[in-house]
Amino acid sequence: MAKAKTVFVCNSCGYESAKWLGKCPGCNEWNTFYEEKLVKNSGTTTKEKKNVTPIQLSKIEGKEAARISTGFNELDRVLGGGLVNGSLILLGGEPGIGKSTLILQICQKIKTDGKVLYVSGEESAEQIKLRADRLGINNENLLFLGETDIEIIENTILDINPKLVIIDSIQTMYSDEITSAARKCKSGKRDNS
Ligand SMILES: [Zn+2]
Repeated sequence: MAKAKTVFVCNSCGYESAKWLGKCPGCNEWNTFYEEKLVKNSGTTTKEKKNVTPIQLSKIEGKEAARISTGFNELDRVLGGGLVNGSLILLGGEPGIGKSTLILQICQKIKTDGKVLYVSGEESAEQIKLRADRLGINNENLLFLGETDIEIIENTILDINPKLVIIDSIQTMYSDEITSAARKCKSGKRDNS
């Protein structure tokens, strides 16, 4: 369980410190620190809020949600017709059952011309490449990232704007913003719009 944390902030310059300080290293003022509860910020750091306008639901064209076929009929059927933009799918299963293999095969067969980002926190690029070669995977749009830091992964996603993001596996990921690591899930796969 993550306990509620606090941070000390200088009310003169906004300098943050985990401890109370008499003199602010940021602006050299004295006795300017006050304690503030750390608010879990959902969006990270400096993203600006977009101005949005709600639209009439009745005006939205009812094009039967654009789904992306995974290339596997049975998997598409389980997913209700394929991957939906913006959806999040959790793929679970016993170790060694073939989750990563299935995922790599999806990377190959997926019916999209967008980029596919494969993030692995468990295996190296070489290990993934070996498996990919064995499976005959040669999708030019498949990109690999060996990383476990959520913030870095998020920045990469914003940077390359992939159509599909795969996180293998979700329990190896961590965030600096959350002290207790999430270790409940088996494997995650994300469809990024
Ligand atoms: Zn200051």
